[in-house]
Amino acid sequence: MRQTMNYFSYLCSVNALKGKKAVYLTLGCKLNFAETSTIQQQMEAAGVETARNGEVADICIVNTCSVTEVADSKSRQAISKLHRKHPEAHIVVTGCYAQLHPEKLAALEGVDIVVGKEGLLNNVISLFHNNVITETETPKAQPFVPACARGERTRFFLKVQDGCDYFCTYCTIPFARGRSRNGSIASLVEQAEGAARQGGKEIVLTGVNTGDFGKTTGERFIDLLQALDRVEGIQRYRISSIEPNLLTEDIIRFCSQSRAFMPHFHIPLQSGSDEVLRLMHRRYDTKFFAQKIDEVRKYIPDAFIGVDVIVGMRGETDELFAQAYDFMQALPVSQYHVFSYSERPGTKALQIPGKVSPKQKHERSQQILSLSEEKLHTYYNIYKGQTRPVLLEHSKSTGILHGFTDNYIRVEVQAKGLDNTIVPVALGEWNEKGDALTGTVSLNYEL
Ligand code: SF4
Repeated sequence: MRQTMNYFSYLCSVNALKGKKAVYLTLGCKLNFAETSTIQQQMEAAGVETARNGEVADICIVNTCSVTEVADSKSRQAISKLHRKHPEAHIVVTGCYAQLHPEKLAALEGVDIVVGKEGLLNNVISLFHNNVITETETPKAQPFVPACARGERTRFFLKVQDGCDYFCTYCTIPFARGRSRNGSIASLVEQAEGAARQGGKEIVLTGVNTGDFGKTTGERFIDLLQALDRVEGIQRYRISSIEPNLLTEDIIRFCSQSRAFMPHFHIPLQSGSDEVLRLMHRRYDTKFFAQKIDEVRKYIPDAFIGVDVIVGMRGETDELFAQAYDFMQALPVSQYHVFSYSERPGTKALQIPGKVSPKQKHERSQQILSLSEEKLHTYYNIYKGQTRPVLLEHSKSTGILHGFTDNYIRVEVQAKGLDNTIVPVALGEWNEKGDALTGTVSLNYEL
């Protein structure tokens, strides 16, 4: 039942939330995390306190993911766990799984509402004010919902774009998140200025298909980058992920000369076999991808290049995987992020013959992970002995701070009181865990 409210009724209903306690749980990508933070800010503005560890909550907000079968099952398990922990709480579910299968989630014990992110606060208000659950609603035509939030540590995540028009055959995101849309350059610059006022130094630009920015406003992605580069106080930007066909030479050239865009790219390849790329309906072939990497290396030789790969797609025979492996081995990139193909209801990929067994998927994934480790070691080793700027972040271990160099090398230093500052760090050997280089802060060094 949809409720309309006059101003008085609205005030009463907002009052109904005052002093209530909420917990927030997010599954999936950085975009989801940024959106949950924005929901949390809205709830706090309406008087809802965030429950501390061990406190019983009145409201549980779950932002779900549906990228794989495992993500679906994790979302369901998280809801059941929250219900056991907070049996009296109202559970509100949103996110990609909620968009794709609202009925499955609504049927879970303890779930009160399954909603799109836009109407979430009003639905919660209505629930507490009238004890009425507004119609379970996951709208098909979704507007652009802005989100800019501080991550766990020092970085901010600014959502610049949402949705996707590409419809790769294995992917459900266009069904879950809708068509490509974006915020205006002016509104995004304003949000970046807000992050700078809160002491933010680094912003990661996030989106589903970030490079497709401009579908709503007719603006160009490169103009957004140029406008953000002028925001005072923000010293670093990273682009979370960009499709190779949308990473133009102009963008690469601009990043190489800009004030604040870091030498760091994250580019999805998905497969190193042309036949598999064709089955996936990707918009490039391996030749194009290799040229793109060369272009990045030409303008920014020291760039960190992270690449996403899916193994075990339907139709990926042993022979095609071997070809893909050889291609990936030869590519001058810094790291591979490996994902196993997951069968998703409603996708075109289900019509492709040649299912890959879980065992083969696991073996292929292990091979790419080892290749990735080699690439990462080779890349890090080049920079040992150099001094690079590092944005230091809090760490759980006392006296130790972690951070990333401009070119995305993870660094560990012994230092105090320097978190959220960018300092020159001389890079040394690998740390004990083998997940970062040790470093020494050299404050007298001019970067
Ligand atoms: S580009 Fe392809 S893989 Fe990425 S979100 Fe769009 S449809 Fe999914």
